[in-house]
Amino acid sequence: MTEIQRKQERAPVAKDWSYAPAPEARDIVSLRERYGHFIAGEWVEPAETYTTINPASEEPLADVGQATPAEVQRAVAAARDAFENSWSDVSPSERAKYLFRIARILQERSREFAVLESLNGGKPIKESRDVDLPLSAAHFFYYAGWADKLEYAFPNRQPRPVGVAGQIIPWNFPLLMLAWKIAPALAGGNTVVLKPAETTPLSALHFCDVLRQAELPPGVVNIVTGDGRTGVEIVKSEGVDKIAFTGSTEVGKAIQRELAGSRKKLTLELGGKAANVIFDDAALDQAVEGIVNGIYFNQGHVCCAGSRLLVQESIYEPVVEKLKRRLATLRLGDPLDKNTDVGAINSKQQLEKIQELVASGEEEGAEIYQPPCRLPEKGYWFAPTVFTNVAQSYRIAREEIFGPVLSILTFRTPEEAVEKANNTPYGLSAGVWTEKGSRILWMAQRLRAGVIWANTYNRFDPSSPFGGYKESGFGREGGRHGLEPYLQFDESAASAS
Ligand code: NDP
Repeated sequence: MTEIQRKQERAPVAKDWSYAPAPEARDIVSLRERYGHFIAGEWVEPAETYTTINPASEEPLADVGQATPAEVQRAVAAARDAFENSWSDVSPSERAKYLFRIARILQERSREFAVLESLNGGKPIKESRDVDLPLSAAHFFYYAGWADKLEYAFPNRQPRPVGVAGQIIPWNFPLLMLAWKIAPALAGGNTVVLKPAETTPLSALHFCDVLRQAELPPGVVNIVTGDGRTGVEIVKSEGVDKIAFTGSTEVGKAIQRELAGSRKKLTLELGGKAANVIFDDAALDQAVEGIVNGIYFNQGHVCCAGSRLLVQESIYEPVVEKLKRRLATLRLGDPLDKNTDVGAINSKQQLEKIQELVASGEEEGAEIYQPPCRLPEKGYWFAPTVFTNVAQSYRIAREEIFGPVLSILTFRTPEEAVEKANNTPYGLSAGVWTEKGSRILWMAQRLRAGVIWANTYNRFDPSSPFGGYKESGFGREGGRHGLEPYLQFDESAASAS
């Protein structure tokens, strides 16, 4: 027996290959007990407050303001004052420097923000660390580049800022949605009143410290917190020139009704029920990873989630089998654990909505599969779920569940795939998996969706416009297109010259 063989014989044999916990330290974030509204560069003591919690443990994190109409008006007045009296005097290249500074500070403080985002939102730290934070910083970098080149972005159109932008964002990507909204607005020379979602206000409040560190002039960005009533006040406010909203289709429609006939500009980024289409020539293992990333990323709290899987009939069985096997390896639990794949559901209300829709799927006759996994006792949790035997008429195939729930349907021909994929009131995104480039292009021409991924899913880039058709809203965020809603154009002067 050689020395190596002797050593191997003595070595203990590992029996348990499960991951040991690898929690990220949470003490990098210092939270205040109570936050006010951030108006004109100062913290304003709120008249009313509520408590924001950690959805993974139900532990209270901090008290935050529930903005009253007077507080919203104060924020709008501060934004107007800054627009007219300070921000408009800042040259475009100076504006770029502020955006660049914000991006750099976010990068420097990214671990702190990632932990906070997971604490308040329930998303796995590896996603907030590797997706939310790098993309948030990238948005500020990207729009920093445009701030002094607007005339090249829109040649002969003489772009000017719109004025005060009212921005209302959801809870699924709190900091990233803030970046999507604030970066193009400031690049265009506007000022901002932003409301984060009721359940996830902390990263936006923490971001105010970044604004101070970047020495952004007071009043250029104002943050007010609260529930839907605060959103209503921002929408109604006379002092606001443009509304940018991301959230549910229902609230988006209400905002559109409210603004009908007014002079305010509006962009809406609403819900989705995206088809992820797998053809029989696709690389199956890769496609299965794409399916998992498409629907279980961020617990399925993603407007462009690939929540309807369309599988070509000839490969249905191997795809479902591989998918179920893969699901059994997903680790659900503590969002701050670096090994966690599926974190907590964002709120009790959202959990109840998922439970109700999943129950409707079972009642309507779909077959449910959930891998064996233990849900933590405290907090809001839902196991990754797959439905097979789904008809297009079932609610789980039509309605946005916004949770880790996949509905699988089949198709035979590319024409049938297109027809089924487009059979939805939404039109935000889609995925196509096939080896043939020509088929990707053929599908992309026919799919009625704002974003189409080929042989990948849920990839984002600040230079790429994002937005929907039909009930998924209108207007684009990201890229040069994302600047346009924050600008007005002097077309007549341009054509005269
Ligand atoms: P909402 O559309 O209610 O929330 C989005 C944002 O709008 C939040 O900041 C919210 O405040 C605010 N808001 C609520 N009501 C009004 C109003 N009348 N006027 C102006 N602003 C308002 O989404 P929910 O959080 O209630 O989620 C419900 C469903 O919406 C989800 O299950 C999901 O299907 C879908 N959704 C889609 C999103 C997307 O990105 N497309 C994002 C979030 C949700 P508050 O947080 O206090 O409610």
